[in-house]
Amino acid sequence: MNQPNGQSHFQVVCKVPTDYGVTFTKYKSSKTGLTVVLADIEAPLVNGYFTLATESFDDFGCPHTLEHLVFLGSEQYPYKGVLDSLANRAIAQGTNAWTDVDHTCYTIATAGSQGFLNLLPVYVDHILYPTLTDSGYYTEVHHVNGKGEDAGVVYCEMQGCQNTGDDRIHLRMKRIMYPNNCGYRSETGGLMERLRELSVEKIRGYHQNYYRSDNLCLIITGKVDEQELMDALAPVEANILSKGPLPPMDRPWFQTGNFPSLTANVEETVLFPDEDESMGTVLIAWNGPSCHDFLTLHAIEVLNTYLTDSPVSVLQKEFVEIEVPLCTDVEFHVSDHLRTTLVFTATSVPMEDIEDMPGRFFTTLQQLVDTNDIDMERMATVIDKELQKVLNTVETDAHDTAAAICIYDFLYGDESGKDLQKSVKDHEYLEELAKYTADDWLALLKTHYLSAPHITLLGKPSASFADQLMEEEQQRVEQQRQDLGPAKLEQLQTDLESAMTKNAMEMPDDILENFTIPAVSTINFINVISARNNGPVETDNPVQLHVNRDNASHIPMFIQYDHVRSRFVKISAHVSASTIPSNLLPYTRLFLKAIFSLPMDRNGVTLSYEDVVKGLGEDTLEYHASLGTTSGFRELAVFTIKAKESKYEKAVEWLRDILWNTQFTPERLKVVASQILNDVPSAKRDGNSMVHECLRAFQFDAKKSANVARNVLFQSVFLQDVLQQLENNPAKVIADMDAYRQALCDPANLRLHVIGNIFNLPNPRSAFKHFDVTDVKALTPITFAHDTLSPKGAEPGQVCYVASMPSIENSYAVHSVKCPKEYNHPDMAPLLVTIELLDAMEGYFWKLIRGKGLAYSSYLEANPESGLLSFTIYQSPDSFKAFEQAKIVIDQLVSKEMSIEGTALDGAKSAVIYSLVAKENTMSRAALQSFVNQVLRQVPVSYNRDLLTAIQATTKDDLHRILETYFVNLFQPSTSNVMVVSSPSKVTEIQEGFNGCGFNMKAITLNQVTIDGLIDAP
Ligand SMILES: [Zn+2]
Repeated sequence: MNQPNGQSHFQVVCKVPTDYGVTFTKYKSSKTGLTVVLADIEAPLVNGYFTLATESFDDFGCPHTLEHLVFLGSEQYPYKGVLDSLANRAIAQGTNAWTDVDHTCYTIATAGSQGFLNLLPVYVDHILYPTLTDSGYYTEVHHVNGKGEDAGVVYCEMQGCQNTGDDRIHLRMKRIMYPNNCGYRSETGGLMERLRELSVEKIRGYHQNYYRSDNLCLIITGKVDEQELMDALAPVEANILSKGPLPPMDRPWFQTGNFPSLTANVEETVLFPDEDESMGTVLIAWNGPSCHDFLTLHAIEVLNTYLTDSPVSVLQKEFVEIEVPLCTDVEFHVSDHLRTTLVFTATSVPMEDIEDMPGRFFTTLQQLVDTNDIDMERMATVIDKELQKVLNTVETDAHDTAAAICIYDFLYGDESGKDLQKSVKDHEYLEELAKYTADDWLALLKTHYLSAPHITLLGKPSASFADQLMEEEQQRVEQQRQDLGPAKLEQLQTDLESAMTKNAMEMPDDILENFTIPAVSTINFINVISARNNGPVETDNPVQLHVNRDNASHIPMFIQYDHVRSRFVKISAHVSASTIPSNLLPYTRLFLKAIFSLPMDRNGVTLSYEDVVKGLGEDTLEYHASLGTTSGFRELAVFTIKAKESKYEKAVEWLRDILWNTQFTPERLKVVASQILNDVPSAKRDGNSMVHECLRAFQFDAKKSANVARNVLFQSVFLQDVLQQLENNPAKVIADMDAYRQALCDPANLRLHVIGNIFNLPNPRSAFKHFDVTDVKALTPITFAHDTLSPKGAEPGQVCYVASMPSIENSYAVHSVKCPKEYNHPDMAPLLVTIELLDAMEGYFWKLIRGKGLAYSSYLEANPESGLLSFTIYQSPDSFKAFEQAKIVIDQLVSKEMSIEGTALDGAKSAVIYSLVAKENTMSRAALQSFVNQVLRQVPVSYNRDLLTAIQATTKDDLHRILETYFVNLFQPSTSNVMVVSSPSKVTEIQEGFNGCGFNMKAITLNQVTIDGLIDAP
């Protein structure tokens, strides 16, 4: 062991280099037991994952409720919201946290390391010494409000998920799998019935037992100077030591985490509420190996991928890729507990097949054993790809990947660091697995999936169960109201108000003022160098010169090259959908989902769809077709292939064949159309996505917009018709699909993008000579979302509906008004700052909407592509009340009754700067951003930097102008569109609320929203 410096108590436990360029250094304090792991990652962001091992033996939800309370203030900073306000000043966008069944993790991401180190001591003070006040518990966890209803942020959050199909099935699995004394069986989020009985004393006790320096690990990923880190930790250590010694503690999980195996099979049915009873879920679970058995775990992961990863995998071929699919997805998951659990899930299983499904699953696996059927060629591809995936995630998701490794090591690894060392040797394990024979794989399959006892759960949707739950809940609340009586209810209302007043204790200005915001110049942006096919000849851009040198062929297409450091090359075709005839637009979903798994004519030879999928598997790392990018532009179809650098030419060839040489067959179209159809019921259970889909259906023109024509709300009717035609007149559908392709894949619609180390490509241009495009006159202009607005979208003030959804227990809303539709409009920068000021954690909306328990969250988005500003209310007991509160906030800001503090403005600016940096956080995101700005948005290369300058220049006067110009409109019936989805029991109340303030809200059902507009209820 050695010491980083003279004064520090931290000693280096181990230094672990990896094959993929990240080095882990683990430190432990000899005085406080605090663990620190630094993962050295080259990136502009620094991330923190502050982790505690949290074991719980009941369903009161102490780990989760505590996670919420930590953010409400600490010993040195006893003010609610101070942490998040300071986080913004550290150039971050607030803080976050999650509670898993075995640990709780507090997160932060800052642009640059300076802000991170400033915030570190503040954050640790919150974790180890939170205030845990009665009033904080009252609003944040649970209380009964003046109407006799249960409320509180955590309570509402659990109300939103406890009775969903997934949660009910997983909880039941845990109850059967893990014995009574084992924490893995607990609902660490807290069950509603337990939350109603929980007390703040119980949470304080839990905090005392688990939130100790020797049970805390500070995982830090990114570029941080070791000495500066130790300096930042010195006051933290001193403060911990000033509290005196800790009583001894057993390491969590080591007493109970090694539970006994299942001894017999268990099969049960689990009901969940939904009015649509057509599709259910099947879950099968087994005991898995120890989490330290890396070779076996890697073997199981490889086997799982082999069984499920593509349309030619064993289980997809058997259950998904058939004319009448038995499910739409098959998936294995390995839980990362001390002793693992293996879980198989089949989603969207038709109810008529659900009883037979588990039997067929086991028969299928048994047949592999009986017939000795392992395709060793595909297995070799799977193993090679696993290794590429490791290298790829290091490029695309380095911080989270490194954190997951460190969390495992902290919870379950040997204290010497020897398990950490073993856990990063993916290369070695995969090399070992490459030596496995077919018999080895079949033996593995037998041991873990065929011979071992298992749990089978059939998750079935039930309308009567939905009614029953709703009735029971209404009766319970009614009873509670009666028991309390009017005087007590009034008292409860007063209690709530006084709790909120106590929570709102103003923090002294100097806390914020003394916390310096680091200079933006300290952030290291990733540099992307762009070049174009047929670009400038006279240039000193080395990438352009490299591209220009490859000049043997005539390549008339638009291609942008973005050079970054990467082991992979990513090729995308962005294709304008604006030339597709209106009547064909509803085929969009079917076209995009089918296109990578069709037979193909390749140089005169027909490949079966299986051969195509296998070939793609061998030559590429990943491929997909979708509408748009992460930055919008959903009127473009985007086809992407990512591959090893050495496969560049092959990848280009695949892209050509996918675009032009695939063949639509009735068989394949039936399979894919049925898969989409079977997924519709589960999509319709998601309140947040439904409220947006509904509003989109009203605001955009389905005759012009591919994005709207493929709306999941319209697909049932359309695809049922397509399936019927595939039976009776398949030629018509094939002709339509061919016409769709012909319109879409016109070379004039095509913009190509290549990301990677361009210098390593010997033929960046001429690889495209096989594209057979001889001439492109003029490129089709890019279609922006605002080009496809319906009259109601172009002039908001004409949509106002509430739709009832029996599968949800609360409500979701979107309100939409006009905003600028030019990316470089002078209002854009102040608009972004205003949004941050309202929306940010501890922003005005956060404090007054979430803080008052009116919604789990709310968020604003200004989208110049559509020219619309939207305000979303997420998981609210009554979205009207949240809306009403938002109106009060805006009114008071506009009238200056509520003033905007200078520190709040500074915090908001630095949070917006963070979000711009985060958009370019990895090589491939930075390269994508370069393409989006230059090619799609058609703004100068300097756009993001210019925006940065404009954000820093924003003043309070700008904010007032923005509030008056745009935000006031959100609350006026004549200028805003409103869509709400709600549990049936709240529909009338919400409707009356809106109509009481001048709106004309109509109640509808999801089924009334069709491609031809709103139809009358049947
Ligand atoms: Zn939560």
